[in-house]
Amino acid sequence: MWSLGRLLKGSAQVSWPGNPGHVMSAVLPTYARYNLAFERGEGAYLMTEDGERYLDFASGIAVTSLGHCHPHLIKALNEQAARVWHTSNLFHVPGQERLAQRLTDATFADKVFFTNSGSEAIECALKMARRHHDATGRPERYRVITFPNAFHGRTLAAIAAGGQAKHLEGFDPVVDGFDKVEAFEPAAVEAAIGPETAAILIEPVQGEGGIRPVPEAFLAELRAIADRHGLLLIFDEVQCGVGRTGRLFAHEWAGIAPDIMAIAKGIGGGFPVGACLANEKVAAAMTQGSHGSTFGGNPLAMAVGNAVLDVVLEPGFLEGVRETSLKLRQRLAELQDTYPAIVRGVRGKGLMLGLEVAVPPRDFIAAMIEARMLGVPAGDGVVRLLPPLTIGGAEIGDAYERLSATCRRLDAAARAKSSK
Ligand code: PLP
Repeated sequence: MWSLGRLLKGSAQVSWPGNPGHVMSAVLPTYARYNLAFERGEGAYLMTEDGERYLDFASGIAVTSLGHCHPHLIKALNEQAARVWHTSNLFHVPGQERLAQRLTDATFADKVFFTNSGSEAIECALKMARRHHDATGRPERYRVITFPNAFHGRTLAAIAAGGQAKHLEGFDPVVDGFDKVEAFEPAAVEAAIGPETAAILIEPVQGEGGIRPVPEAFLAELRAIADRHGLLLIFDEVQCGVGRTGRLFAHEWAGIAPDIMAIAKGIGGGFPVGACLANEKVAAAMTQGSHGSTFGGNPLAMAVGNAVLDVVLEPGFLEGVRETSLKLRQRLAELQDTYPAIVRGVRGKGLMLGLEVAVPPRDFIAAMIEARMLGVPAGDGVVRLLPPLTIGGAEIGDAYERLSATCRRLDAAARAKSSK
């Protein structure tokens, strides 16, 4: 049994199942890792070397959205691996053409730039916004309006856009050009607009910030504000996109479209793929030589991206995600009713759900791990539940059992503490 303390302990001596525990890690210690490692995955489950089976409602932070080792994804990757891995962007990459066409057919976008990560997709979005205004005679427009609790990645520009002290600390000077408004209020956004404003950047459902769906009316309001002031609207759907909320993209719930959208995570199903999508108006400025990436859009990534779309675009798939979401939410509401001192609420959209917990999220997750289940901590006292989009009734039932065990353990611990 792993104790809570042992699971959470940061130590120079690294041990996990299968590791003797006296090996000093050569990996830069930037992550607070749980003392666990997995050697195999299957659907919604991950297995350790010693055969322990964990229900994975983290999905690598909304990445393995079709579960582990999906046969269609394995086939696509293996077939491509046996043909050609990499040719560079000096040549046409047929998989890119196909994936870009399918993404543009399914969205507001006319053009796609492929990246390897979400941060790079955001970087591309920010460059596109500047370049658009430069090309249309307003080069002074470079500033971007951002929101509290945002997360856009870890490059210098992305941490400046996120604006969170814990990510900025020690990396001064902060990249200039981001103006954070204090609330999801149209008046606050209007007040922040100046002659140098180029764009508005927002996650339609905030992930790291604590699974906060931005009100649909506010997203529609942002579209109207952007149009009125000649600004670009950029959506960061790195975490909430590609079916996660029960629509192909989360902004579809609001019935409006951005000018630029960053995606990653789910589109690769576990293979590193990102993309920046844009409408023709914006894409027109991104001429030859204006941007590039060595690995972005490589054949392996494109094979997997296309295979993910094969599944997600199948008729009925997204309806299935919405139905599954309702069923899971029902069980989570039961959990809240049974353990109100531990679970204070449930929030989110589709299968991007958050449990509002009364204990520190990392403690809740440590107790989940004791029950052999994985989730992800987020801001605002929330534990993220990001299961594969492919789960069914059996996994929902299993999740309920394991979360009940988690709450029982925490409830008992809280009672024991208060009776001391
Ligand atoms: N944007 C959002 C909304 C994210 O959730 C993330 C990662 O969690 C990123 C951007 C950055 O993506 P990556 O870690 O792939 O660079």
